[in-house]
Amino acid sequence: MVQLVYVSSAIELFSNEALLELLRKSREKNRQLDITGLLLYKEGNFIQVLEGPDEVVQNLYAVISKDSRHTGLITLSKTEITEREFGDWAMGFRNMTKIAEREAGLSSFLTESIAPETFQRQPSRALIFLRTFRNITD
Ligand code: FAD
Repeated sequence: MVQLVYVSSAIELFSNEALLELLRKSREKNRQLDITGLLLYKEGNFIQVLEGPDEVVQNLYAVISKDSRHTGLITLSKTEITEREFGDWAMGFRNMTKIAEREAGLSSFLTESIAPETFQRQPSRALIFLRTFRNITD
């Protein structure tokens, strides 16, 4: 199996409804494809981890890359794995803005930007975000 992490920016800010629609379709398709993962959204930027069979992840990532709702995708890591880290969800989701508002003052980490360019020099930071937000529910 493979675990792939990328960042991207929405063309327009997503409304709650648009996020829910994106998740509904993603979860339905991921269940069929045996894909798991987590999607983080904050102020128009995404971090996503996709896990599953190598070719399936690669093909889905090709579809996601062509999606006109976001742009500027940067692949941060692609790692062979034997166990899933985000296996609980067909696609988990955290709206980081909401969590940051609620947890204000607890950690400056929560208020950091996730604009794609901030990860280019330290790609492994994205996985730290994903692991942290896996454990914080919104
Ligand atoms: P179709 O529904 O025929 O989609 C065809 C194309 O239409 C898409 O590629 C997209 O460019 C566009 N499109 C679809 N819906 C809308 C809409 N509401 N508004 C504007 N354009 C639209 N899909 C998954 O299956 N799993 C994921 O984990 C996943 N994660 C995503 C993460 C992000 C940040 C984004 C932006 C998209 C994600 N998607 C995911 C959606 C994915 O890009 C495809 O839209 C989806 O897989 C359906 O593609 P399709 O070609 O099978 O179907």
